Amino acid sequence: MTHPTDGSCIFCKIVAGQIPCFKLLEDETTIAFMDINPVNPGHALSVAKGHWPTVDVIPPDVLAAVAKTAQRVAKAVVSELKPVGVNLLQANGAGAGQSVPHLHIHIMPRRPNDGATLNWDYKPGDKAEIEAVYKRLKAAL
Ligand code: AMP
Ligand code: ZN
Repeated sequence: MTHPTDGSCIFCKIVAGQIPCFKLLEDETTIAFMDINPVNPGHALSVAKGHWPTVDVIPPDVLAAVAKTAQRVAKAVVSELKPVGVNLLQANGAGAGQSVPHLHIHIMPRRPNDGATLNWDYKPGDKAEIEAVYKRLKAAL
């Protein structure tokens, strides 16, 4: 299946395998991988394979597929990491805090008093910690 792509987009490069990611799962329409600036351990992204920036332009069936993949990842996060809660978050446009204009849903496990805000600051995660939680979730899928 062919998808629209944008050569300058970081997520299109991940979809194309040009830059690495901790890939949790993949199907014909979507890919899920760990966020490299996790708000909490287990923070992951469900991403459309095609380059559609926002909810107003993505085909509805692709959006549904991204939501379905987010649900699969969220189930693994809940069962394996047992967070106090999980936020699914999807931003559209820079004004909404969207930094990568390629549609994705955040799967964000919550911890008590984690101070997470809607538009959080990016702090690089420890690669070994991201990989360790990645392996647990991958196995739980
Ligand atoms: P947003 O600001 O809602 O567009 O979210 C974009 C997310 O992508 C941020 O949480 C970033 O940490 C994350 N991100 C950016 N580049 C990468 C990458 N190469 N691999 C994994 N996550 C990334
Ligand atoms: Zn893209």
